[in-house]
Amino acid sequence: MLSRIPLATRVRSAPARRSIWNATKSAVFPAFSQATPRTASSATLTKPKPPVFAELPKPVPFTFVEDTPIVSVDEKKVAIGWDTQTWSRFHHVWLRDHCRCPKCFHPVTKQRLLNTFEIPLDITPIHVESKPEGMLVSWPSTTGHQSLYPWTWLQENSYDPPLRQQAAYDNKVLWGSKIQKAPPTVTYEQVMQDDELGLFRWLSNVDKFGFSFVTGVPTTLEDTEKLSERIGFIRETQYGKFWDFTSDLSRGDTAYTTMALGAHTDNTYFTDPCGLQLFHLLEHSGGSGGATLLVDGFYVASILKELHPEAYDILSRVPVSGHAGGEATNFYRPAAPSGYPVLNHDRTSDELYQVRWNNDDRSAMKRIDPALVEDWYNAIRLWHKGITSPDAEYWVQLTPGTAVVINNHRVLHGRSAFDGKRRMCGAYIGIDEYQSKLSVLTEKFCINENQERSVWSPLL
Ligand SMILES: [Zn+2]
Repeated sequence: MLSRIPLATRVRSAPARRSIWNATKSAVFPAFSQATPRTASSATLTKPKPPVFAELPKPVPFTFVEDTPIVSVDEKKVAIGWDTQTWSRFHHVWLRDHCRCPKCFHPVTKQRLLNTFEIPLDITPIHVESKPEGMLVSWPSTTGHQSLYPWTWLQENSYDPPLRQQAAYDNKVLWGSKIQKAPPTVTYEQVMQDDELGLFRWLSNVDKFGFSFVTGVPTTLEDTEKLSERIGFIRETQYGKFWDFTSDLSRGDTAYTTMALGAHTDNTYFTDPCGLQLFHLLEHSGGSGGATLLVDGFYVASILKELHPEAYDILSRVPVSGHAGGEATNFYRPAAPSGYPVLNHDRTSDELYQVRWNNDDRSAMKRIDPALVEDWYNAIRLWHKGITSPDAEYWVQLTPGTAVVINNHRVLHGRSAFDGKRRMCGAYIGIDEYQSKLSVLTEKFCINENQERSVWSPLL
């Protein structure tokens, strides 16, 4: 049974971590109430400046346990005293299930080998010993099975209470329009280098800010495709694999027109919306407009939660369905018939991990609780005010040679109307491919520095 934390507390407020780009609450109040639609002419158009890196994650420090901790055993659990104040308790059955000796856990494939269902639920160790390298547990068995758990691993995986489980949210820098002063940027040259450090910086920017520019990209389809593939394989959709489009309404979607598009996330009609989206403007001639709009959905959510917790709660609970139905040959809708809420949270930490919002693609709200109709319309109005507030909108005029990658689960995008010939190319990359690459690079640069992945990796 999961403990239910009140929805109103769901976005962790982390005021200390907010960057200088964040406006104060008093600055946001009027912005939320006076928001007006933006046009390219009123937008602040800036060119990305030299590379701006997110600070790379610090290597995970190995905790030297100076004195070997005290261990004590009762009927159901082992208690480990890290110091006089801090204790972790582990159930015997949990410890036996998490044995990572080569018989119980495959050292290469990193898969469980032991039969969990043969462990007696009342299993009790016959001996527990505190050793400098970890806790040695001897289990009742005819073959004398022993498990050794490193102290750092026990701290990282402590669940009673959780000790070192770093919240993913803690790495994020929430931003508003002032990010235009120094947007996260890397160069193409850095990203394409074999040592992958530039690639790690790029993805660390995305992890922290939800987007990053890449400057100096050759203005060809082939080079932009290669850039996308540095992250992972491209996710093919009904719009193709690596796409290249002009405003010719060749597809049944407003993206293929010259119309302005308000801030939205893509693929709200998919069960699993694409994770990253890369855009590269290859050409814009004989016209003007077409500025790109980026809005940090996590930032707007954090403000909404502070100012209107009841609206935040509704957006976190009421599922919304979407559809892509503009082409006769396909019809997309999410697998869950009622769809998914606008704000989606991790079940135990209650961290916000995904924003899904595209009012244009929203389907009929036929499953909404009748008691919530008015509250829900009020909540989406407040959300709309937030994402269209000048404090939240970051407008940038992309130029050929600068690509931008955004996390479609966090950052909303849009554009102003334009005329002339505008050619844009880009790709989608699944959230899992992106996270896999980021994990591998985090491991490479911060965890084990080119050594083989250990069975005690904090990521397993
Ligand atoms: Zn074992």
